[in-house]
This record gives sequence, structure tokens and C-alpha cells, in this order.
Amino acid sequence: MQVDVAVLGGGNAALCGAINAALAGCSVLVLESAPKPYRGGNSRHTRNFRCMHQGPVGPLTGAYLEDEYFDDLIKVTKGQTDEILARKAIRESEACFAWMHTQGIRFQPSLSGTLSLSRTNAFFLGGGKALVNALYRRAEQLGVRVRYQTEVTHVDMRDNRVAEVVFTDEQGAENRVQPRAVIAASGGFQGDTDWLERAWGPGAQNFLIRGTQYNRGVVLRDLLDQGAQSVGDPTQCHAVAIDGRAPKFDGGIASRLDCVPFSVVLNQNGQRFYDEGEDVWPKRYAIWGRLVAAQPSQIGHVIIDSRSLNLFMPSLYPPLVSDTLEGLVEQMGLPTGASLASISAFNAACANDLSGFRPTELDGLATRGIEPAKTNWARPITEPPFYGYTLRPGVTFTYLGLKVDQAARVQMQDGPAENLWAAGEIMAGSILGQGYLAGFGMTIGTVFGRQAGQEAGAYVKHR
Ligand SMILES: Cc1cc2nc3c(=O)[nH]c(=O)nc-3n(C[C@H](O)[C@H](O)[C@H](O)COP(=O)(O)OP(=O)(O)OC[C@H]3O[C@@H](n4cnc5c(N)ncnc54)[C@H](O)[C@@H]3O)c2cc1C
Repeated sequence: MQVDVAVLGGGNAALCGAINAALAGCSVLVLESAPKPYRGGNSRHTRNFRCMHQGPVGPLTGAYLEDEYFDDLIKVTKGQTDEILARKAIRESEACFAWMHTQGIRFQPSLSGTLSLSRTNAFFLGGGKALVNALYRRAEQLGVRVRYQTEVTHVDMRDNRVAEVVFTDEQGAENRVQPRAVIAASGGFQGDTDWLERAWGPGAQNFLIRGTQYNRGVVLRDLLDQGAQSVGDPTQCHAVAIDGRAPKFDGGIASRLDCVPFSVVLNQNGQRFYDEGEDVWPKRYAIWGRLVAAQPSQIGHVIIDSRSLNLFMPSLYPPLVSDTLEGLVEQMGLPTGASLASISAFNAACANDLSGFRPTELDGLATRGIEPAKTNWARPITEPPFYGYTLRPGVTFTYLGLKVDQAARVQMQDGPAENLWAAGEIMAGSILGQGYLAGFGMTIGTVFGRQAGQEAGAYVKHR
């Protein structure tokens, strides 16, 4: 099969690469392992991207300049980032806004209750699904060929060059293509729960995967095995605590639960294990994935009373409900004695005067004399009916990835690959050593996807 550029994957990073390679005049083939209705990987679950800007633009308010953006990144990664690549992503995010608009993506102001991101993050009108559809439409207008249900199984590297790409087609038959340049944009490895287990231990089989099941790290593993340099740590990932009843894959953002700050959270043994009110939820939801992952059976149990039911975004699944705490903990499968003792101890540690309770700000209404303390919004759980949810770790994406340079070129052990570039989750670990900055996944994919497409296009044309 004759093709200039093969793009491995069919999410945002892949399509940005495919579009730019096509704009450079190349014939482009996108190999997407998902069937068409599920195309677009994790990108189809997204809502926004984080964008540097000098002043109000589109729905973005105020200004968000490079140094503030970089400081925000340093805070969440605790300095574990490649500054050169990070600053490139930040600076070039500014041009992405107009570029995305040209490709047919439309934006909208952020909704209220969405983590207060109106200054820093541009929200996609219609969400990630509309973004993905717009990019596919644009790619197809430019003549990009897309094959669905085609899983790339091997990228044959010879002397630091891709010689051939092997993939299985819709019928499960093995196919081969010899492109002149390749863009790897096939995501992280979170869909391979056995790989997660090797990194995290057996408890990883209890994790839920918030996005696509097709990001199994097949291309990542294959390239690492052939001497591609890796970045990042296999145990680092973006993981949040989500409703334990969410499906194993693809639950998306709807399975998020925002009630933790107004609750007590017990583990399977009926014990509290962390300060539920440490900070406002947008600043804490991402640490709860790891906290729950560290508990027995990787499960947490959130309990609130009737006073708190309307203080957070409604949940996708209705909570368990009972007129008594005893009835609720029994329904939740918790040990009754230990759970009621934990809640009683918590209730007794709450202040008598609750007039300072302010659900939308840090109110300092703290427990006294128990461990762990609850440092804000500590109201006793006493007003029936009582409500309960289970929490599970929900993995968004893994950080172990391919090392790239500023041109998005994959680095092999003995030098840069000649005709292989990488973009998106598969290389995001270069920038995200740990932690996460909301909206930065799409920024990394868009900036490095565009770069990879441009570089692959230039390589094909000037060779
Ligand atoms: C629920 C949820 C909400 C999120 N919200 C946001 C948000 O609002 N803003 C933000 O910035 N980030 C968000 N993220 C993170 C964001 O989705 C990712 O950072 C981003 O989409 C990565 O883009 P990508 O193109 O690298 O990967 P993906 O979009 O996941 O694309 C990878 C593609 O590779 C394909 N693929 C995998 N293996 C193979 C193979 N062997 N052969 C062929 N194809 C293969 C997959 O099918 C998929 O199409 C969210 C993630 C989730 C799960």
C-alpha cells in the first residue's frame, strides 16, 4: 500500500498530525483501532483545553501568560517536567485556539460549576465528541484516508527508521504498509489492565478506566522493546475517584462524584482514612483516585446526610438511601459496628456551632481531636435520610511514554528516529512527570500533533 504518512491512532493528537501532514501535501492514512462509533479515543470525552492568551479571546476571559501557566504546571508536577517541552506546549497553545477554529472546532463559555476555568481553559462547543467529529470531517476533506478497527501491532524499526507498519484489519487479517513517515499517537496503556497490574500490583484489576478501552499501549510497548527511550514512571497516571458503579471503560465525565467534601469517607473496614475537607473539590478530586487505590479492595464509601444532598452536582447514578445509618451501612456492605463507631467519633468531633458552614469556600469548620481531622465543612452526619455512594479509582491516562525532542521526534537509545514522531498521551510523560493541570492533555496533543504532522510532511517533501 502506497502512503506518505501513516498515523497510528485516531484521537486528537493523531488527527492534528494527519491534518498538518495533509496540508503539507502528503497522502495520509489514519489507522484507528476502534470501530467508527467509538473513534476518537479519550479525546472524545474531553471538554476543554488550556490556552495561553494575552487578553480576552473567544470565550476566554482576562489574560493567561506563559509564566503563570508554567508556574501552575510546576505546582502540580512538583517540578517534574521537561521545561523546554513544557514551555513549547504553553507558548504554542496560543496559536492552537485560532488553528482549531479553522479546522471547524467551535468554543463556548465554561459552564458554571465546572472547576472555575473560564480564564484559563477554552471549552469545546458540543464537547470532545464534537471536536473529534470536526477533526475527522476536516481530515477527510483534505483527502486523509481513515481505516477503523485496524489495530497496529508492530512498527518495524530498522537502523532507527520505520521500515514497515503491521496492523490487523476489520476481519482480523494481518496487513502491512510501508509509509515514508509515521506519527505514533496511540495513547497511553491504561486499557491494558494486566500492564497496570504489573505496575501497581493486583489491586489494579479493580481500577476503572474512565476513557477508551483501545489505548492498550501496544505501539508504546513495541517501540520500547525496540530501543525507543522512555520517559516517566509506570505508576504515574491521572486518576480520580469516581462512582464505583461506573462501567469498566468509557464512563467518561458523567461518573464523577463531587460529594466528598460534605461527607465522611470510610474504607472497606469502616474506617476513615483521609481529610475529606482538605481543600475545595476541584483542587482535591485528582488525589482521591490514588487515596482510594491504596485502600483495601480499592474501594471507598461516601456517606452524607440529607443536609448535603443538594450541595454538589447531581450524580449519574442515584445514591443508596436509608432512614438510619445502620440501614445504610448494611446496604453498602460495610461492617456495621466499625462503621457506626467511625461516624459517631466523627460526629462527636464536630463543633457545636455550625453557623460558619460555607459550602462554596474554605470555611475552616474543622473537627477537633480525631485522626484524620476534617479541616473544612465538618458537619455531623445526623439528619436522615442518609445517602451513600461507593468510590473507585478511575484512571484517566498513564504517563509512561516515549521520549521526544522539541520537533516531536522519537528518541531511540542511539539517536533520534529518522522518520518517526509521537504526539499526545504516548509522549505526555515528558511533560507530566506527576500531577495534572486540567486541560493540559489536549494542549499537549494539539501542540505536538500539529508539530509532528508538519515535521513528517516536511520530511516526506524534502527527502
Ligand atoms: C473522561 C475524560 C475526560 C477528559 N477531559 C479532558 C479535558 O477536558 N481536557 C483535557 O485536556 N484532557 C482531558 N482528558 C485527557 C485527554 O482525553 C487526553 O489527554 C487526550 O485526549 C489525549 O489525546 P491522544 O490523541 O493522545 O489520545 P486519544 O484521544 O486517547 O487517542 C488515542 C487513539 O489511539 C487509538 N489506538 C490505541 N492503540 C492503537 C493501536 N495499537 N492501533 C491503532 N490505534 C490505536 C485509540 O483507539 C485512540 O483513537 C480527559 C480524559 C478522559 C478519559
